[in-house]
Amino acid sequence: MKKDIKSLSYNELNDEILSLKLPKFRTKQIFEWLHKYGVSSFDEMTNVSKDLRKKLSDDFILSTCKIEQKYVSKIDETVKYLFRLNDGEYVESVIMKYKYGYTICVSSQVGCKMGCTFCASTLAGFKRNLEAGEIESQLHAAQKDLGIRISHIVMMGIGEPLDNYDNVIKFFHNVNNENGLNISMRNITISTCGIVPRIYDLLNENLQITLTISLHAPNDVIRSKTMPVNDKWNIDEVIQACRDYVNKTNRRISFEYTLINGVNDSKECAIELSNRLKGMLCHVNLIPVNAVEERGNVRSTDDNIRKFMEILKRNGINATIRRTLGSDINASCGQLRRKRNEVK
Ligand code: SAH
Repeated sequence: MKKDIKSLSYNELNDEILSLKLPKFRTKQIFEWLHKYGVSSFDEMTNVSKDLRKKLSDDFILSTCKIEQKYVSKIDETVKYLFRLNDGEYVESVIMKYKYGYTICVSSQVGCKMGCTFCASTLAGFKRNLEAGEIESQLHAAQKDLGIRISHIVMMGIGEPLDNYDNVIKFFHNVNNENGLNISMRNITISTCGIVPRIYDLLNENLQITLTISLHAPNDVIRSKTMPVNDKWNIDEVIQACRDYVNKTNRRISFEYTLINGVNDSKECAIELSNRLKGMLCHVNLIPVNAVEERGNVRSTDDNIRKFMEILKRNGINATIRRTLGSDINASCGQLRRKRNEVK
């Protein structure tokens, strides 16, 4: 099987170039075409000779994301794409406009095997991991279509990024490369449902990225009901990994806590959560649960959300309520899917 040239690291590309007996400057040139300019065919590499373009296309494939559907929110200009990959599979990505620039929420897998009961991304099951180049192609396609430059990345689309660890780490290095998109590691956030051994691997990578944990419950009884991953690594293990992560990296961790009416939004839950997180350099993002038709979860009342936040704050835990973007186009947290969907 041919390798995806966009999924090679700078050094791997360099090895390939040298093995073709080509001069070293070609590496930088081709890396720029692939990553900075995000070309979708070898023929776009106009300062590369025809012969070399032919050689590259004989030896490699070039991953791309083709726009299958595009939705633009009438409320807040959020854009959601359904992208078709080279093999005909689909993933979604979301572009959000903030004061400081554009953020993309990217997918890391086609589907998801984690099975969280409130999330749409897991409904159609898991198909395959995305290659590093396929994750990056989501940025290239969106930038080109919108004529913008994306400055921030959140790995909060479809899939569990730490279940596709090597490709995700490679993606980080490639988008961070100065010959590529040159996006600062500090502008990258990775979100996980709590794959504990990979959190320790990440800790050892020593990257300046932000780690976010999808916690959604203050104890194992509630968490196991909604997140099957909790049966593998329970709350104590996840929190311990987080404490170790903060101690080693000195970087603040974020927790996502989706508030579902009558499930995890009681006063007692807020107190228990505060006790769990005491003393940790962290922040809690409260997310009123977004509608997923098949799931039927009901969001907490605004009053309950506010009370929940106040209890956390009184106990010294930083907390904010996450603004919901793209709600009219099913582009909010937990609403992304690997297929066409009708927006009413
Ligand atoms: N698999 C990773 C990346 C997905 S990030 C993870 O679990 O962190 C998407 C975030 O949205 C996660 O925090 C997820 O738990 C949350 N989410 C899922 N379904 C949701 C819903 N219906 N409403 C609000 N948030 C949801």
